[in-house]
Amino acid sequence: YTKKYGKNNYTVYSEELDRKTAYKLTLEKGLKTAMANQEFIVHYQPITDLSTGEIRAMEALIRWKHPELGMVPPDNFIPISEESGHIVSIGKWMLQTACAQNKAWQELGYPPFKMCVNISTIQLQHPNFVETVKTVLEETGLEARWLELEVTESILMEDTKVLKDSLTNLKELGISLSIDDFGTGYTSLSYLRQFSFDRVKIDRSFVADITQDLNGKTITSTIISLAHKLNMQVIAEGIEDETQLSFLKEEKCDEGQGYYFSRPLPANMHDLSKTPKKYW
Ligand code: C2E
Ligand code: MG
Ligand code: MG
Ligand code: MG
Repeated sequence: YTKKYGKNNYTVYSEELDRKTAYKLTLEKGLKTAMANQEFIVHYQPITDLSTGEIRAMEALIRWKHPELGMVPPDNFIPISEESGHIVSIGKWMLQTACAQNKAWQELGYPPFKMCVNISTIQLQHPNFVETVKTVLEETGLEARWLELEVTESILMEDTKVLKDSLTNLKELGISLSIDDFGTGYTSLSYLRQFSFDRVKIDRSFVADITQDLNGKTITSTIISLAHKLNMQVIAEGIEDETQLSFLKEEKCDEGQGYYFSRPLPANMHDLSKTPKKYW
């Protein structure tokens, strides 16, 4: 295709490709030592009850402080850690850190809320996953009802027995399960119900469209009413403005998360001393 696109285009394209490959290789290499060098940190973002304004949960979001590249966002390194298998140990560390943090907040006397942890399909399919969750709860002393695992819709494409058993066993521990980025995949809500998911998180692309009115209102209100009819709670992601918030409140969306309330922050930057903390 050098001939077809001309020499210059080929050069530009190839440099771009080289740069991406080099970046990926740097991340792959760095992942091998990142855990031992304590380069991962966790930021927490509050999830608010849209009828009262109180904090109902915190989502734990991983960050990687790379020694040369600086902050690497999870979307850049999670897929690589899934390919290499590092996600299993990283995910376990996330669970431990987030559960320990939630227990610490509870021991400081703040009104308890759930800790939501993102789980990769690779982790969920690991035969020891349920055992890992159980051990983490025991070791940190966090009660199961204060832990929620978030998985993406793609998990349901893998319609395997291992997966169904894992989900059932996790539910039996007493934790809750939510579907993240709902609406971006191909799952129907009734299918989710069958897999005993408690909550649905509406993808932030639909919430963003509420302001633009690019069918965002129709899509979000349809997801909310269907989920409610199936006895599932709904969380809206990526709330950034008043228009989105008031629409979601009108539509009786249960909970919301987004920059409007707070960006994800390190644990010590959350002021939970006003109890209950309210956003309005
Ligand atoms: P997610 O689970 O859907 O997390 C929400 C993402 O939206 C976060 O990006 C958060 O910072 C961002 N966000 C929150 N509110 C707003 C808003 O109002 N506006 C906008 N524009 N963005 C908002 P982040 O932290 O970069 O994480 C990206 C994704 O990486 C997560 O999406 C999740 O899929 C994955 N991820 C993060 N931490 C972990 C982890 O520990 N394990 C796994 N497996 N995946 C993780
Ligand atoms: Mg999430
Ligand atoms: Mg999400
Ligand atoms: Mg997302």
